[in-house]
Amino acid sequence: MTIAVIGSNMVDLITYIDRMPADGETVEAPDFEMGCGGKGANQAVAAAKLGSEVLMLTRVGDDIFADNTVANFERFGIDTRCVLRTEGPSGVAPIFVDKDSHNRILIIKGANAKLSPADIDAAAEDLKRAKLIVLQLEVPLETVYAAIDFGGRHDIPVLLNPAPACADLAFDQVARCTYFMPNEPELALLAGMPVDTLEQVEAAARKVAASGVANVIVTLGRRGVMWLADGQVQTVGGLEVQAVDTTGAGDAFIGCFSHSVVSHGDVAKALAEANRYAADSVTRRGTQTSYADEVVAHPGA
Ligand code: ADP
Repeated sequence: MTIAVIGSNMVDLITYIDRMPADGETVEAPDFEMGCGGKGANQAVAAAKLGSEVLMLTRVGDDIFADNTVANFERFGIDTRCVLRTEGPSGVAPIFVDKDSHNRILIIKGANAKLSPADIDAAAEDLKRAKLIVLQLEVPLETVYAAIDFGGRHDIPVLLNPAPACADLAFDQVARCTYFMPNEPELALLAGMPVDTLEQVEAAARKVAASGVANVIVTLGRRGVMWLADGQVQTVGGLEVQAVDTTGAGDAFIGCFSHSVVSHGDVAKALAEANRYAADSVTRRGTQTSYADEVVAHPGA
């Protein structure tokens, strides 16, 4: 096993509607789709699709959504020995999308809220074999901190994607990671600074880097990505593609970056590959379903 993702899984319940129902009203919706999501699961699937051996430490509930999630991991060859079952609901996200593509999303964390530091201890023998630990913030912060601590004790690099944005994330914990990978709003919240221009992004990234974290990597949507290490900044420009659906682009980026950096260890090359992989994913609808099996040379071509 090369990559351990410790994080969330969700089942997206996407209802396509013409209009929102009023209070007490029942409205027929023209279409419905169920999809596998959750930031941890998305990142695991992207890395596995690219050929990495991935282990997922996560919690599912005791409902049919759990079976669906496990089957989905297995379809991509992800190691599910550490997919733990919990009483109660799985993580689910009812999503309403109207005719103009405006959406309203509810997140029920369900079993994800029960992933605990003790689960990391119980999975220690498996986790020790990882060459990279990948984390997000859809599970309790104390569990994220325990995972950072585990990486430190076993000399395993840790990649932290601080998503969804969280003002409570402690800088001294960020400092212990090897890769800290926010998007723009997440960086703005943590640094307490605006990130409208590239100069402002750089200033905010420098503020976070001052905590001591080795690599700050900020994904910039269509503008590409900025990397700050050893006081030096490098920017990889965004690629011109026909964007159809940008949902899950950040997870595609992180999954691919993880796969690449573990495969060859060259961060600059891994960023260029992840930038191409994520740009390619936005040319198709869906989240995991938009992820390719390879890093194409010319996304959207
Ligand atoms: P998130 O999905 O977490 O908000 P971003 O919006 O920063 O993350 O996107 C992650 C990466 O996906 C970007 O760094 C870029 O490589 C790619 N990407 C996203 N949107 C586009 C776009 N419209 N055109 C080209 N690439 C994109």
